[in-house]
Amino acid sequence: MPFGIPEYEISFAAQNSDQKDGSTEHVLIYPDLNTLSEEHITLLEGEVPEHLKGRPYLHHLVRCIIVVSHEVLHFVQHCIALRDASPLSWSAEHDASWPSLSLLCAADRACQSSCLTPGLVEACLVYLSGICRSRIQEWTPEVTAACESWQLHMGLTAQGDGDLPATHGPGGIDPEDAAFNETFRAWKESLAIEGIVESDAELEVQLNLLFNWGGRREGGEVNALPHPLRFADEAEG
Ligand SMILES: [Zn+2]
Repeated sequence: MPFGIPEYEISFAAQNSDQKDGSTEHVLIYPDLNTLSEEHITLLEGEVPEHLKGRPYLHHLVRCIIVVSHEVLHFVQHCIALRDASPLSWSAEHDASWPSLSLLCAADRACQSSCLTPGLVEACLVYLSGICRSRIQEWTPEVTAACESWQLHMGLTAQGDGDLPATHGPGGIDPEDAAFNETFRAWKESLAIEGIVESDAELEVQLNLLFNWGGRREGGEVNALPHPLRFADEAEG
């Protein structure tokens, strides 16, 4: 499906549309490979390290494989009405990223899609892992520290009192420019790579943390719900 506007858009999108019968239609929107302009190509080329430049369509096709499970997790958030009031939606992005490639691997293991020919997912993961490693080496200490804080706090930010950070922006500054959006995309993909687990049981733990335990299954504002890891620790101890 062509994304259309804005002209520079190369993002995927999870769209939830309420239907007349009360149901919700979930639509995953892909940027259209056939309508990529020179500007899109330049943006895609900017995402890869030097040795991978010159193959923007390959990069786009890998994204078509690896992004789907991330968007599906956004559908889950919508279905259980889990909200993140932060205008930057960093918690929602954290939660849709961390287990996303584990979910893709689980789909691959179940082999229920004719799109996932044997070895395709592994090849995409190796490709993405190399890109993430290259990007991380380029990060400034401020960007690295902010990313670690974002992971540690699962994207949650303080709403008034509390020991959560007010922002995960590098140097304490909220990101508003396009350059940081590119960095943030890199954070999400790195987290998804780091979050890969190899069994359905481990994936279940990840999904329970993010979408079930601590009142999350009933939905609500995530920053007002217990921190998932603290909840799990207290439930165990
Ligand atoms: Zn997302």
